[in-house]
Amino acid sequence: MATKQKLKLSIDQKDLIAWYQENKRTLPWRQNRDPYRIWISEVMLQQTRVTAVIPFYEKFLTRFPTVHSLAKATEGDVIEMWAGLGYYSRARNLHKSAQTLSKSGFLDKAHLLLQLPGFGPYTSRAVSSLAFGEPVGVLDGNVIRVLSRFYGLKLKWWENKEKQKLQDLSDKLALTEFSSDINQGLMELGATICTPQKPLCLLCPWKKRCVAFAEGLVNQIPLPKPKHQFEIWSWTLNPVIKNGKIFMQPNQSTPFLKNMLFPPGSAVAVKKKLVNYDIKHGVTKYDIFIHIEKSSLKSAGPGEWISLQDIKKINPTSLMSKILKFIEK
Ligand code: SF4
Repeated sequence: MATKQKLKLSIDQKDLIAWYQENKRTLPWRQNRDPYRIWISEVMLQQTRVTAVIPFYEKFLTRFPTVHSLAKATEGDVIEMWAGLGYYSRARNLHKSAQTLSKSGFLDKAHLLLQLPGFGPYTSRAVSSLAFGEPVGVLDGNVIRVLSRFYGLKLKWWENKEKQKLQDLSDKLALTEFSSDINQGLMELGATICTPQKPLCLLCPWKKRCVAFAEGLVNQIPLPKPKHQFEIWSWTLNPVIKNGKIFMQPNQSTPFLKNMLFPPGSAVAVKKKLVNYDIKHGVTKYDIFIHIEKSSLKSAGPGEWISLQDIKKINPTSLMSKILKFIEK
């Protein structure tokens, strides 16, 4: 991985940094370079737009203001504060990584952060460059779009080999002591100017050298990612309720909502959408058809009894709310 270097800035870097300094939005996680705050914002922003993230972010930071407070919390508390953001495995990974970082101190290099649960290439690089100035480039959807257009690249960016070409370009741009501004500038440019539809090229700091703009290819780059196939799943749940408590166990039956606590059950992938079902639900690329069949606990395996009042703390998913509503009918 590259080390911090004082290199003469290229015209592209200079223009981007100047534009970012002048145009950056005031956002709560930009108040300082606290790696913990940056990390939480980056994980939340992976799934939701900036404006929607802000209230969740502020609530989360009020409840867990430091990595130590997050590390000390119970998993249930963390999941509860994550409610509404979805992708609960991310909350569990945050909690696990906070426990490591609370002991070790915040790691300042992307390749070290990458070893922790939930830190992928993007998050590791974003945190190390934004908080510590490590000269590594980030690559998310916004950056892929900006770089593809700027360099006029019609790449199959969803394939690893092609994506690496964009990562290399991003790394090259970030190879400066101003990597934080470069990375944030690229992301900001993608979010506000070089948007997927109708980009505001006339306001772009890079318009004079942008290949897609010069060649009229803005609407053709980046190439559209082929749509993924939906998977259809049939999931049978066997809830058991006694004395105001429901028996729950970590879900190992499906590739989605894995390890979240649900009533015992079993699931299979099927070829066609079901006609008869009790609940229909969608999670990312999965269409899920659920049957509710009350049963005894004889073959349920290990699990725990949870008070119906506390269900939201351990499983705040909208699917669990639908299941409870169905059972209560
Ligand atoms: S000139 Fe237009 S297409 Fe090129 S980088 Fe700027 S906003 Fe994107």
